[in-house]
Amino acid sequence: MIVSNVRILGGELVDLRISDGVIIAITPAGPEATAAGDELVVDGGGAVALPGLVDLHTHLREPGREDAETVQTGTQSAARGGYTAVHAMANTSPVADTAGVVEQVWRLGREFGHCDVHPVGAVTVGLEGRQLAELGAMADSAARVRVFSDDGRCVDDAVLMRRALEYVKAFDGVIAQHAQEPRLTEGAMMNEGVVSGRLGLTGWPAVAEEAIIARDCLLAAHVGSRLHVCHVSTAGSVEIIRWAKSKGWNVTAEVTPHHLLLTDDLVEDSPVGAYNPIYKVNPPLRTRADVEALRAALADGTIDIVATDHAPHPVEDKETEWSAAAMGMVGLETALNVVQEAMVETGLLDWAGVAQRMSVVPARIGRLAGQGQPLEPGAPANITLYDPSVRTEVDPSAFASKSRNTPYEGMTLPGRVVATFLRGRPTVLEGKLV
Ligand SMILES: [Zn+2]
Repeated sequence: MIVSNVRILGGELVDLRISDGVIIAITPAGPEATAAGDELVVDGGGAVALPGLVDLHTHLREPGREDAETVQTGTQSAARGGYTAVHAMANTSPVADTAGVVEQVWRLGREFGHCDVHPVGAVTVGLEGRQLAELGAMADSAARVRVFSDDGRCVDDAVLMRRALEYVKAFDGVIAQHAQEPRLTEGAMMNEGVVSGRLGLTGWPAVAEEAIIARDCLLAAHVGSRLHVCHVSTAGSVEIIRWAKSKGWNVTAEVTPHHLLLTDDLVEDSPVGAYNPIYKVNPPLRTRADVEALRAALADGTIDIVATDHAPHPVEDKETEWSAAAMGMVGLETALNVVQEAMVETGLLDWAGVAQRMSVVPARIGRLAGQGQPLEPGAPANITLYDPSVRTEVDPSAFASKSRNTPYEGMTLPGRVVATFLRGRPTVLEGKLV
């Protein structure tokens, strides 16, 4: 197969020749790049070519909430967003806290996945924060779990967190923490600040996130293990992570697309009205100053990666009153567009920087072989073709996800995923699922 007329990381026009799922040659684009024999030619039309995107934080909802998403629809959504691998969070029903459940998710991924599916294992049994789950058995299972998280809940017990960090060292695993001090966020509905005060909604203080991150950085350093901080949302968290990195500690961090673009005043006043639960998310949308700090941190490497926290919910769980609505947003099909808007259009990142933060480094944190590799001869043909020159209105009815809870409906965002290739096999062509 030949993928012609693409710009690797936005560079010169080239043609990629692919055989048996591997890039075998890269040559300057030219009229001579025509198919020999029965070769398939896909014309990239000058699109930017990125290594296939890798998400470290996806909620696929299967098993248990197939009304919100399934492995099939979630990975279709991922492919449409340019992803070739996702990590499936453990807060399913049953919880992915045993070798049996992670192998079930891994098998569903092999059978129905439009991208690679890597199950995340729970840190504690039932996400209940009382006893450690079978971390070693999940690591040794067919799913070869390396990322462990109670995401949705915080491992707030310091002794359990310490033991988990110690345990995963044996197999080079990482604990991905959802940093939320539970007592400080009881009944919390939105960011604690000027807007929550005006609206009379229970606030979610930045310190509830920052206190856990500071504690966990210290614990990770103490036991010499790997910590990953999920969905960093405050300027203060950035400062703590910057300090931990300056010490040489093994701490990585992610930011979501929505925390790079949206702010808490949308709860009070937005194009879709006040108190619209489409903006209800955990951690909450913060202030403009936080957004600016997160963008700067992603640009300078303090925050390592973008992760979607794709959190599908059915209509009945979102279109209800603010206090009762579920927290979360879908994100796979708009992530690259939002990153272009927040980071590329602002001059903070170029396409090489985007590839690092959305493919290369997330694959490295998850210890994935065969993903996140630079596009060069010998590399697996995991490729995302992206046209940054167009602007289109976000249309949730076109999503492959089973859920529609996007905060971007009706917004105009830059760029379009043209095609996605998983080991040389197209999963999306001309923006449509194959
Ligand atoms: Zn979370």
